[in-house]
Amino acid sequence: MTTAPVQLTRSTCPYCGVGCGVIIESRGAQIIGVRGDPDHPANFGRLCTKGSTLHLTATETLARQTRLLQPMRRPQRGHPPQPIEWDSALDEVAQRLGEIVDRHGPDAVGFYISGQLLTEDYYVFNKLAKGLIGTNNIDTNSRLCMSSAVAGYKLTLGADAPPACYEDIDHAEVIFIVGANPAWAHPILFRRLEDAKRANPRLRLIVADPRRTETAELADLYLPLQPGTDVALFHGMLHVLIWEQLIDPAYIAAHTEGFDALRQRVLDFPPAHAAQLCGIDAAALVQAARWFGQSRATLSLYCQGLNQSRNGTAKNAALINLHLATGQIGRPGAGPFSLTGQPNAMGGREVGGMANLLSAHRDLANPEHRAEVARLWGVAEVSATPGKTAVEMFEAAARGEIKALWIACTNPAQSMPDQARVRRALQRCEFVVVQEAFATTATCAYADMLLPASTWGEKEGTVTNSERRISRVRAAVPAPGQARPDWRIVVDVARRLEARWPQRLNGRATLFAYDSPEAIWNEHRESTRGRDLDITGLSYARLEEAPHQWPCPEGQSPRARLYSDGRFATASGRARFADVDFVPVAEPRDARYPFSLITGRLRDHWHGMSRTGLLGRLFGHVSEPAVQLHPQDMARLGLHDGDLVHLTSRRGSIVLPAQGSEQVGPCQAFMAMHWGEEYLSGASSSGERLAGVNALTLPTFCPTSKQPELKHTAVKVLKAELP
Ligand code: SF4
Repeated sequence: MTTAPVQLTRSTCPYCGVGCGVIIESRGAQIIGVRGDPDHPANFGRLCTKGSTLHLTATETLARQTRLLQPMRRPQRGHPPQPIEWDSALDEVAQRLGEIVDRHGPDAVGFYISGQLLTEDYYVFNKLAKGLIGTNNIDTNSRLCMSSAVAGYKLTLGADAPPACYEDIDHAEVIFIVGANPAWAHPILFRRLEDAKRANPRLRLIVADPRRTETAELADLYLPLQPGTDVALFHGMLHVLIWEQLIDPAYIAAHTEGFDALRQRVLDFPPAHAAQLCGIDAAALVQAARWFGQSRATLSLYCQGLNQSRNGTAKNAALINLHLATGQIGRPGAGPFSLTGQPNAMGGREVGGMANLLSAHRDLANPEHRAEVARLWGVAEVSATPGKTAVEMFEAAARGEIKALWIACTNPAQSMPDQARVRRALQRCEFVVVQEAFATTATCAYADMLLPASTWGEKEGTVTNSERRISRVRAAVPAPGQARPDWRIVVDVARRLEARWPQRLNGRATLFAYDSPEAIWNEHRESTRGRDLDITGLSYARLEEAPHQWPCPEGQSPRARLYSDGRFATASGRARFADVDFVPVAEPRDARYPFSLITGRLRDHWHGMSRTGLLGRLFGHVSEPAVQLHPQDMARLGLHDGDLVHLTSRRGSIVLPAQGSEQVGPCQAFMAMHWGEEYLSGASSSGERLAGVNALTLPTFCPTSKQPELKHTAVKVLKAELP
């Protein structure tokens, strides 16, 4: 008997924003192994536990029959879905969407997509919504992840472009990690940080986080600030930097504007006051400011602790203020560097796949940008009506304004804040399409039509990681069953809608003349010409050689570090200090809800666990859901490890074991975001069955970035009485 030879295919890990290169080993139609790509500059061959078990999850999803293998149509709400032919499914999706648009207008339709889609998928979804249907109601779960970082960069530096790169970790003298736990959420980047610390004993690490995480354990200085107080910390540090003459007046004069107003504001944040607001030691705040300002190169790494906040844009901007005031930007080892949570949150932003954006970092609110994109796409116009962002979209659906939702590669029934409201919105919609690889997500239960999508190892395209590096994603095996690439499904529905609305084609045969992801990529590439993220030099052929960072205009080399010349992407070319205010959390703890619930990730699981939850070995690190409480609180409540508690907010309640931990402070609680219906039970305040931490969280969002405050909820903890 002869066995098929082992094939090796270079691709990219589909989990976090580090964007590690992988080599997939396959035999025939089966993925049999995975290893780190030694030539990929994000990981140089390393993989974390999630990445190194990708092949096992790929086979396990098939073995356990959790893959969605054929289109399924639900004949009636409350009934099980039935198989349907692809053509019939696509016809029905186009017909139902078309009817709703013709009856109620384009804004009666919404698209909720994902930072795990590939750039090419994102591009065609955006073009379908904004170009053909004529609605800007398209947003993504990246809204829950990175939109405050985007808004912070644009407010201060003028463009959504992280200025630093991974190599800066090797050059930094001080690394300031705030609102991030890379030890668990970005493990390969954290290993690089550990290496840098071993190689350079002078490297100092400052970690600011309400929880004493594994990342904080490596810190030379740990600041256990209270949730939501980051702006007070940064303003307090700037106060010290000014007072101790550690700012860089020459840099401020030559390359920035707006410092005087900010200087006035931070006068109100002397270290004792700022430290009191943050709940930390004033001497520690002063020490952090001194290290930040005295170092030759300071790098800040930050993530959801800043972003997932009602004041997320201000938090990002206040941190960037510190870099501008000290000139710690645009040099090796220096700069504010946001870490992306998902593998392609960046790619989605690049193609404008969010409610307020257009292709190539153009803004929907800018009439010239709308006209440029209409010309590029060959449509009469792009609507000026602002699109609904993630939380707004489900609110509009709950009110009955949005009547059809198309959800792709994401699970809002588990991951959106205030789960009860999101589920009511899904129930109220006339038509819900769920395009998914996995049949097991909570959102699938609300679908009228389920469209099976191919996933990692089965599809072609590109992703962009945290350091603006674009990597190819490649298919090693054919998709199982009838699953199809996401871009293909979108194009097939778009062509059917074009047949319904030929007048929208401006005389063209089709707006979606794509026969491959590369054709989509080439159109996207062209749309970036002359823009800050110009990638006209990055053809698929060039990306075959190696992953590259943007910008990379035609005929030029990619640029790893931005703003080295001191010119920024603002109209004046100067960076802007942001005179932002400190705003406390939306729902402070009180006598009825006396605990601050903080959410976060586990090391070995990913999002709603549709992939990682299938592997027993990934439960070796943390085996079951739990709420972590400080030992003092455990004793006060008469709790022992493993005792069940009701964790209750104003919106819902869940039951889970308590666990004593000194990682959280008194009156704080921590729970991981991953656990869903299979692991937890709960109910909304009006009695609907719910599960997971988002039964509790609140939908309040930052007014600028529209990113919800997933990081803080006021809760109470009551011991569950056993019957
Ligand atoms: Fe994948 Fe992130 Fe782990 Fe790298 S660090 S292997 S990208 S999960």
